[in-house]
Amino acid sequence: MDYHNKLCTQIRDLPRSGIRDFFELVIGRSDVISLGVGEPDKSTPWPIREAVIRSLEKGQTSYTSNLGLEPLRVLISEYVEKQFRVTYDPKTEILVTVGVSEALDIAFRAVLNPGDEVIYHEPCYVSYSPSIKMAYGVPVVVETREENQFALMAADVEKAITPKTKIIALNFPTNPTGGIMPPEELEKIAALAVKHDLFVFTDEIYCELLYDNRQHKSIVEYPGMRERTVLLHGFSKAFAMTGWRLGYACAPAPLREAMMKVHQYCMLCAPIMSQIAGIEALKMGASAYEEMRQSYEMRRNIIVSRLNGMGLHCFNPGGAFYAFPEIRSTGLTSKEFALGLLEKKSVAVVPGNAFGAAGEGFVRCCYATAPDLIVKAMDLMEEFVNEVRK
Ligand code: PLP
Repeated sequence: MDYHNKLCTQIRDLPRSGIRDFFELVIGRSDVISLGVGEPDKSTPWPIREAVIRSLEKGQTSYTSNLGLEPLRVLISEYVEKQFRVTYDPKTEILVTVGVSEALDIAFRAVLNPGDEVIYHEPCYVSYSPSIKMAYGVPVVVETREENQFALMAADVEKAITPKTKIIALNFPTNPTGGIMPPEELEKIAALAVKHDLFVFTDEIYCELLYDNRQHKSIVEYPGMRERTVLLHGFSKAFAMTGWRLGYACAPAPLREAMMKVHQYCMLCAPIMSQIAGIEALKMGASAYEEMRQSYEMRRNIIVSRLNGMGLHCFNPGGAFYAFPEIRSTGLTSKEFALGLLEKKSVAVVPGNAFGAAGEGFVRCCYATAPDLIVKAMDLMEEFVNEVRK
């Protein structure tokens, strides 16, 4: 069979995720210290797991409402109000999804017509461009730069706006840079969205993981934004719940309704066990993650100081759990650096260009790894850098 010509061209031409490709090389190697995959090194807090065990003992294994369990949506509404100072109606404006991944996918599919443009920033999480293309949209990249600590500059966004622009997609703190937004730039981007009547999708998955006593501010909080924003959030990172696959979208009722239709037909509902876990997580609130957050801050301090100490310039990221050092001074490309480090020292990092062309010259190091392993990985990386520079 001629599979090449029979497959959907849109899907056939999508590149595979650079992270996953890289990690095929690591799978099955117990000798490798991984600063690779972006997930917490701890399991989900015990009370959350226990609540699900109890629910299984009671036989709670059914479908739920397409929207998600009502008690969960009520808790989401309360949590979001506390985090972002914006109120959403649990009945009409909140949808429980299978991770932020699904929330992003259905939000793009609910809004985009073929040819509509979406402005997003790179380096960024690997799903953005493919999700936009799978919804028949056109991804329009705006680069963020190290000199701005990987914040998105409103002037760059403005240059990218055309009559076809429909959405601006944001993710701060950012995967893979750890960059955050200065409020004055965020305010200007909000004003652009209002002026050009655009939607904004804001992926808040790292919003709890902020350091140096920072307070998070989301674009949804600015005047005129609530009506045009889809707020995407989930449990994977702060609550250490990656495997539960649980997230949510908050949006004005007509938008939520459109997303619900896609969700209803492709997903039906998020698994009930995960939703029960979500209820317990939100009952715990910050007590579920504050200790982890403090521990990530301590690890960030270790890794950033070690990277700079070995001559790999690395800005101090304000959030998430990634360091994004520049490796150009070694004379290697991102891929050569990551492959060399893996081959010679058994340390895994992700080449920066897996997150878009703007990531070339950098590598991503996830520091949600045990502190002693971070130190060991930094010792080995320093040896590697010194050997390459000789
Ligand atoms: N958005 C960003 C920026 C991410 O970094 C990730 C995962 O790494 C996701 C979304 C996916 O999150 P979820 O596990 O909720 O699907």
